[in-house]
Amino acid sequence: MLLSDLQSGQEGVVVRVAGHGAFRKRIIEMGFVKGTTVRSVLNAPLNDPIKYKIMDFEVSLRRNDAMKIEIVTLDEAKQWLASDTEAQPTLPCDRPALEELAAVRSKTINVALVGNPNCGKTSIFNVAAHAHERVGNYSGVTVDEKLGTFQHKGYTFNLVDLPGTYSLSAYSPEELYVRNHLIDKSPDVILNVVDAGNLSRNLYLTTQLIDMDMTMVMALNMYDELKRSGDKLDIDQLSTLLGMPIVPTTGRSGEGIDKLFDTIIAVFEGKEKHERHIHINHGSTLEQNIRALRTEIYNHGFSDQLSTRFLSIKLLENDKQLIDLVGKRDNDGSIMKLRQELSDNYLEKNGNDIENAITDAKYGFIRGAMAECYEKNKQVDSHVLTEKIDAVVTNRWLGYPIFLFLLFITFYCTFSLGAYPMDWIDALFGWLGDLVSNNMNEGPLRSLLVDGIIGGVGGVIVFLPNILILYLFISIMEDSGYMARAAFIMDKMMHKMGLHGKSFIPMIMGFGCSVPAIMATRTIEDRKSRLLTILVIPLMSCSARIPTYVILISAFFSQHVALIIMGLYMLGLIMAVLMAKLFSRFVVKGESLPFVMELPPYRMPTAKAVVRHTWEKGKEYLKKMGTIILAASIIIWALGYFPHGNDNALSAKEKMEQSYLGKVGRFIEPAMQPAGMDWKQSVALLTGAAAKEVVASTMGVLYSSIEESDQMADDGGNSEEGALRISQLISHNMTPLSAAGMLIFVLLYMPCLSAIIAVKNETGSWRWALFTAFYTIALAWICSTFFYQIGSLLL
Ligand code: GDP
Ligand code: MG
Repeated sequence: MLLSDLQSGQEGVVVRVAGHGAFRKRIIEMGFVKGTTVRSVLNAPLNDPIKYKIMDFEVSLRRNDAMKIEIVTLDEAKQWLASDTEAQPTLPCDRPALEELAAVRSKTINVALVGNPNCGKTSIFNVAAHAHERVGNYSGVTVDEKLGTFQHKGYTFNLVDLPGTYSLSAYSPEELYVRNHLIDKSPDVILNVVDAGNLSRNLYLTTQLIDMDMTMVMALNMYDELKRSGDKLDIDQLSTLLGMPIVPTTGRSGEGIDKLFDTIIAVFEGKEKHERHIHINHGSTLEQNIRALRTEIYNHGFSDQLSTRFLSIKLLENDKQLIDLVGKRDNDGSIMKLRQELSDNYLEKNGNDIENAITDAKYGFIRGAMAECYEKNKQVDSHVLTEKIDAVVTNRWLGYPIFLFLLFITFYCTFSLGAYPMDWIDALFGWLGDLVSNNMNEGPLRSLLVDGIIGGVGGVIVFLPNILILYLFISIMEDSGYMARAAFIMDKMMHKMGLHGKSFIPMIMGFGCSVPAIMATRTIEDRKSRLLTILVIPLMSCSARIPTYVILISAFFSQHVALIIMGLYMLGLIMAVLMAKLFSRFVVKGESLPFVMELPPYRMPTAKAVVRHTWEKGKEYLKKMGTIILAASIIIWALGYFPHGNDNALSAKEKMEQSYLGKVGRFIEPAMQPAGMDWKQSVALLTGAAAKEVVASTMGVLYSSIEESDQMADDGGNSEEGALRISQLISHNMTPLSAAGMLIFVLLYMPCLSAIIAVKNETGSWRWALFTAFYTIALAWICSTFFYQIGSLLL
């Protein structure tokens, strides 16, 4: 627990002191060292400071300061003894146990991974914590923090993988997120991961971390690439200049990671010679300003929470969040007044914004450090290959055809290759259905098994191969770095639509699933572009819609599966672009800000990573089958079976029409009639709100229930053969035109509930979530009605 929670008269042992440099040093000098016993002398709820007794003398600490000290108490030690089998059972439950627990606790190191996007944080995290997080070769794969715990040399590490950021300003959600994490959680050690191939840019963030005065270790990642390039870096020298140990690592293979954590232990224990606090020198004029403001801040009692130097620099940089924070304690307004004066003065004297000057100074520092430690290999340019490939794939004329070609290959493989395993799984379920039918007496249970569960879940599970193949291609494009190029060539076009090239990656991810796609928009710095992207992502055809497409297309248009599917995806994309344009005009107001597009070097995707991503998606799909799809199938079956399911006087078709499901269908049918859809299609679409696969499973349940009667009429009841039973049944029960209208409807209408919730979470308001649901339904209805009516006229 925290020292501040220790009640009067209780005792505890110190296990760690959080907080930054000067503050931490002061606390430690007062005697709050790991392993010492503290007694709370007077801690009344409202009194501040609190009085403590430590090593026989009394000290007072402010409550805020006491909150930065972690301790263990006798009670905690008792609980620990009772629960933890690793604790020595021989220990009597008193001081030795307490000291033992204190020792264990103080051997726990909280480490935060901080670095630019795409520098290998997640790779290092995975190697260290043996985790399976997603790595990808473009910025913004890590949008949330990931936690991992592992043991190393007798220490327990709590590792958090934070989102990638280029700086610690408060411009993008990630930057703010990372900064708040560092301030609120004050990790023991910051692991600053940098890309050795891009040192100058990566070090910018490092200089800001140095301002914050945090305990740091640097992982010089992608060291393999640095070595291969023939460039030379004097690591020891850079280490000295930056005042932190630097360990070369290769996140991909895991090389250097052991040493990295050894170094973190050494730093944590204060045994690392390179660890010292430096100041980035911003030049004498700026430093004068920083110092002046810092003194003022210090006088307002800010020394506990944050480095005053950091605060001072950030205030001069006009940082809104920190200005608010400081403003709260700045009763007389003197800090803000001084801040304004200093920056006005600076502008007047130097003709340059103080904010820009600080950035320039930091880059100056970095250039200087690089000049001293870095020697470029004159012979070969490491990025030659990347540049050659880029010259082709981002070429003004070749770029688009190449992109379309790759998309076509993707869809072709997804649907043509996928058809083989799909047939096998389909045959398996057909056989299973027959087996159950032939061995059970007629009744609700048989109907539930055959029509409900096997018909519903089986009708969707056959698409697992397609989804795996699609994800395989998306993973390869992401990991190789091609996806970033696709975004790059789309940039111009996207700008015209009020979007940004960076919107393109989340949109393509939307082909897989809208939920991670919506979350991935966090890399878009500009608020307006981000919101627009979120709003149109549901129009990108997600993989859950594939089952419905394949069922309908194989029923009527089986000659052209890949082409029609590609057409649908394109339609979704075009609609997304049109809607974005429309919304940027009329719905989401404001200007878009330009920002830089990264082009990471190409990397050969590793088979391991690609297989892992693909399989993770497959697992998710199967999980969905066992839960939401199974439940939906059973509910839909029950609504379709009752109340007349057992009544032999009615035909199967009549039973279905008079069932509860039939009634719901009839109720919405009039609204769907202009789009050419009957009650069965309407019901299927309605149930798709839970998850898009349910559209297909509902059709499976609905059409397999009326199977008997229709087959009698049409082809004598032999439809067990053939790739997709449901498709066959549908081909007898729907017109091609209505099926095509339904395809359009499924493509465009309301995203599933999880996607709606994702929109709510990312935009922070239900308003946008509901807006998304409504506009997509309206759009789907308009487009499919338009299509159906025109089609009816022509045919
Ligand atoms: P993050 O955005 O910082 O989390 O970076 P990731 O861990 O997702 O890695 C980005 C890309 O760099 C992936 O394609 C990794 O396979 C690759 N990568 C990571 N570490 C190394 C390394 O040390 N050397 C090389 N060559 N590639 C690496
Ligand atoms: Mg990551």
